[in-house]
Amino acid sequence: MPPQSLVPAASVLASVKAAVNDVYDTAALRQLDAAHYLHPFTDHAALKSKGVRVMVRGEGIYLWDSEGNKILDGMSGLWCVNVGYGRTRISEAVYRQMETLPFYNSFFNTTNIPAVNLAALLVELSPPQFNHVFFTGSGSEANDTNLRMVRRYWDLLGCPGRHTIISRYNAYHGSTVAGSALGGMEGMHEQAGTLPGIEHIGQPNWFESGQGMSENEFGIVAAGWLERKILEIGPDKVAAFIGEPVQGAGGVIIPPATYWPEIQRICDKYGVLLIADEVICGFGRLGAWFASELMQIKPDLITFAKGVTSGYVPLGGVLVGDRVAKVLTEKGGDFNHGFTYSGHPVACAAALENLRIIVEEQLVQQVALETGPYLKSKFASLGDHPLVGYTNSLGFVAGLNLVKKRADKPHDCVLFNPDLGVGMVCRGYMFDNGIIMRAVGDRMIIAPPLVMTTAQIDEMITRIRSALDATLADIRQRGWL
Ligand SMILES: *Cc1c(COP(=O)(O)O)cnc(C)c1O
Repeated sequence: MPPQSLVPAASVLASVKAAVNDVYDTAALRQLDAAHYLHPFTDHAALKSKGVRVMVRGEGIYLWDSEGNKILDGMSGLWCVNVGYGRTRISEAVYRQMETLPFYNSFFNTTNIPAVNLAALLVELSPPQFNHVFFTGSGSEANDTNLRMVRRYWDLLGCPGRHTIISRYNAYHGSTVAGSALGGMEGMHEQAGTLPGIEHIGQPNWFESGQGMSENEFGIVAAGWLERKILEIGPDKVAAFIGEPVQGAGGVIIPPATYWPEIQRICDKYGVLLIADEVICGFGRLGAWFASELMQIKPDLITFAKGVTSGYVPLGGVLVGDRVAKVLTEKGGDFNHGFTYSGHPVACAAALENLRIIVEEQLVQQVALETGPYLKSKFASLGDHPLVGYTNSLGFVAGLNLVKKRADKPHDCVLFNPDLGVGMVCRGYMFDNGIIMRAVGDRMIIAPPLVMTTAQIDEMITRIRSALDATLADIRQRGWL
C-alpha cells in the first residue's frame, strides 16, 4: 500500500471526477476552494463566508458557472479575452505547438519559430519607431523589464544618475515588487512599500479633480504636474515617465484630449523616455492596434500582455523603440535580465493565432467604426438613470459614476459616502442580472470582448439598466438616498 500522503482524499478525487464529467458539486468545490486556494487581491475571510462562484465554460461573450447560470462577460475575463471564449483556432495552434516543441528557452544563442514570427508580426502592427520586442510571461514582468531597461539605457549613455521613473497615483502597472511600486495603488503601497527612485504625480481624472475647468483646460493642468515633478527632482535625474493611455484598473480614467500630447511635449523637452503601458489599451481595445496612435504620442517603450493572447495563455512583453534598442544593441555588453518563459513557444503560438483572428475578422476596424461608436451612444443613454452622474467611453471601455443626487453638470452631483460601498452593492445586482461589470469605488466599468455585436450591446445595456433599477430600490430601502 502506498503511504497515506500519496493517496488524495476521497472528497478531492470525487470533485476532480465530477468536473471531468461536467457534473459539478458546487458545494464541494467551494469547500475545497475555501480550504486550499489563496486567491489574488482577495479578502480571504470574507470570501470564505460568501463562497466563490465557480466558472466552468465560456463561449463567445458568455460564461457559464457550475450552477448553470449564463453570464454576459462585460469585462473580457480581466480585460483580456479580446476575441471571446471558445476559439478553436487558438486551442488547435497551442496543441500543435505543444506536440512539436512545447518548450525551449531563448537564452544561450537559441530561438524558436513562434517567438521569431511573433516578434516580426508585433513590429509590423506597432507604430513605426518599434523594431524590437522583449518577451516576458506577464504584464508585471514586462514593467519590471521596463524599469531595468531604462536604467540600463541611461547607464550605457554615461548618465548613471538618471534613474528616477515618474508614474501616477491610481495607476496600475502590475503586482510584482517593481510593478506595484511603479503603480499608484495606495492599498498596494501600504502593504508592499515602494522602491527608491519611483515618484508619483496626480492622475488626469477630470470628474474627480477638474472642478471649474473644461476637460481640455484640465488636461493641460494635469500634464503640467509632470513638468513640475521633473523640475523638482532635477531633469538630469529623471529616466522615464510611465502611464496607461487610459487607466484601466484605476476605473477607466479617460484623459482629456489635450493631456497626452502635452505629456509628450514635456518628455521631449527634458529628454525623458516615455513608456506607454498598453497592457489593456493595446490590440484593438480602444479601436486602434495601439492607443499611442490615438493619443498622438510616440512612446519609446510599450508594455503589452493581456489582449496579445486574449488571455488563452499567459504572455507579456515590451516593444522597444529604436531610441532605446539602438543603445542596448550597439553599446554591447550583457543585459542581465530575462525569464525562463521569455519567448515561450506555446504562448507565442497562441498570440500569433489570436492576432491572425483580430486581423482577419477586422476587429480593430469594427470597434473603431461600428461597435465602438454604437457602444458610446448606448452607454451614454444610461446617463438618464437617477443613480448615474457621469458616463464616458472610448472604443470598448466605458464607465459610469453612481451618485446620490444627479445634476446637469457632473461636478455638481452629490456623491455617496464612499464607505457605504454603493459600487459593490451595484456589482452584486449586475451579477444577478447576468452581467459582469466591475466596481472601482462607485464607478462601474466595462471592457467587453471585441467580438461583441450591436445586438449584444443592446442586451448588455438592458441588463445594466435593470441592475441599476434593482440597486436604486435596494439603497432606497437602506435609507442611503
Ligand atoms: C493587468 C495589467 C498589468 C499587469 O499584468 P499581469 O499580466 O497581471 O502581470 C500591467 N499594466 C496594466 C495597465 C494592466 O492592466
